[in-house]
Amino acid sequence: MTPEIIKRLFPNPLPTISEIEGRYPLRTLPSGAKVTRVAPSPTGYMHIGGIYAGLVSERIAHQSGGVFFLRVEDTDQKRKKEGAQEVICNSLSRYGIIADEGVDIDGNDFGLYGPYTQSKRKEIYQAYAQKLLADGLAYPCFCAAEDLDLMRKIQEKQSQRPGYYAKYAHCRSLSDDEIIANLDAGKPWVLRFKSGGNNEKKMLIKDLMKGEINMPENDLDIVILKSDGLPTYHFAHVVDDHLMGTTHVIRGDEWVSSVPLHIQLFVALGWKAPKYGHYAPLQKLDNGNKRKLSKRSDPEANIVYFWEKGYPEDALVEYLFNLINASFEDWRRLNPDKKAFDFPLNFNKISNTAGALFDFQKLHSISKDVVARMTAEEVYDAVLNWAKEYKSDFAQRLIEHKDYYISILNIERNIGKKSRKDIVKWEDVEADTSYFFDDTFSVDLASYANELNLTIEDMKKISSEFKALFNVNDDKNAWFEKIKMIAQNHGFATEMKAYKENPSLYKGNVSDVANVLRILITGRTQSPDLHAIMQVMGTDKVLSRL
Ligand code: GLU
Repeated sequence: MTPEIIKRLFPNPLPTISEIEGRYPLRTLPSGAKVTRVAPSPTGYMHIGGIYAGLVSERIAHQSGGVFFLRVEDTDQKRKKEGAQEVICNSLSRYGIIADEGVDIDGNDFGLYGPYTQSKRKEIYQAYAQKLLADGLAYPCFCAAEDLDLMRKIQEKQSQRPGYYAKYAHCRSLSDDEIIANLDAGKPWVLRFKSGGNNEKKMLIKDLMKGEINMPENDLDIVILKSDGLPTYHFAHVVDDHLMGTTHVIRGDEWVSSVPLHIQLFVALGWKAPKYGHYAPLQKLDNGNKRKLSKRSDPEANIVYFWEKGYPEDALVEYLFNLINASFEDWRRLNPDKKAFDFPLNFNKISNTAGALFDFQKLHSISKDVVARMTAEEVYDAVLNWAKEYKSDFAQRLIEHKDYYISILNIERNIGKKSRKDIVKWEDVEADTSYFFDDTFSVDLASYANELNLTIEDMKKISSEFKALFNVNDDKNAWFEKIKMIAQNHGFATEMKAYKENPSLYKGNVSDVANVLRILITGRTQSPDLHAIMQVMGTDKVLSRL
């Protein structure tokens, strides 16, 4: 390619390669330190897989004393959405995925290897594209969309591999004169990489997650610069991860087939390629079959789903760590008080070939444990934060009755193994605690009487007798002795053993009596510790319920 043609393709002055390399010195890091990144596109949508990849990348870097950064990949300007930067930053920070360098919520860079938004790096990509052109490793392509469509149809018809290669790479062999004529005619152009690969030959790729894979070399002359002057993902990835010193690229496995091309680009530019790890998409069970969690049909693929439902952030992090390394669970059992981020993630044990199954049951059980480890005040604050965003009337109630709510949340909390484990997500708390308030309390006595095989009359008798005996200062033993007494007075067995031996002698047993009280007080047959509930409600409310 003549310098004149290069000048016509890139008329504006570009920084020189040595200038650019000077701006991105080699990182000085301790030996073994890894540099990783997350590289979301600002589409306004964060897939839960993005958080998974973010956690893996953050841990790899920080566990090794390295650097973790955020790069915003916005070269596809059509997909860019208003407010997307906020979604990216909030999604990561909520889950403790904190970048050392990158772009903040206002779009400002922090760190020395920026800019970290690709659209601000246009000149850098162009400088390297120009270099490839000068080295004879790239060429302008003037094929119009219709030409490429026609090519595709022919390839399909002749059962040929699709793409711009070999005889289909029309513009690869344009002469300088033809190029000049096209430029004179004002034809739009893209820049293509001139691949030296042979599709018949295989190359061995060592993937950090998938292991060794044999893949054909790339022989496609892919587009590296689009007609708007911005790079494609492939080119931007190679240039950025080189300049920014990335050592380990963790990304979705939709990119695994591009690795031969990426390695080729690294070689063409004279650079060392990073190590790659491709994770398979998270799966879900659908009618007994495993399938990919899909952006289109599964609301839970979107991270916002977990915010709206109020899943505690720590629970999701613990759950994802558990998916990343199955040994997390044992570690957690041995280290109940440590932070999830203290878990030594074993990079070699990420088994991800099949795609981890996103299992809500498991998430819920982890979430219950996480919430059980929190103090009542912490739960209150978290629920309030959630409600302020998603349920303002509930937030109002939480604020008005702060102390009451904290005592409610404190029932059976932080008492070791027997701690209450009923809260999964903040969304549930309002309904779970509704019976503590008269305006949201209701009870269907008749159906419960039926369920317990008692009459309303029986229930009334139990109620009035307990009402007469109730003293909020009774400790649990004294309180239970009173219930036993009532049981005895009304023909219920006071001991389970006696009841089981001779059920026909009794109306029921002492737990039925307690259940009658539970129903009257809470409107339900399942509740946390009834004695504690009565203490929290206080004398007036208990008596009025009875
Ligand atoms: N922007 C790319 C994506 O969203 C990132 C892939 C990568 O991490 O390199 O898929």
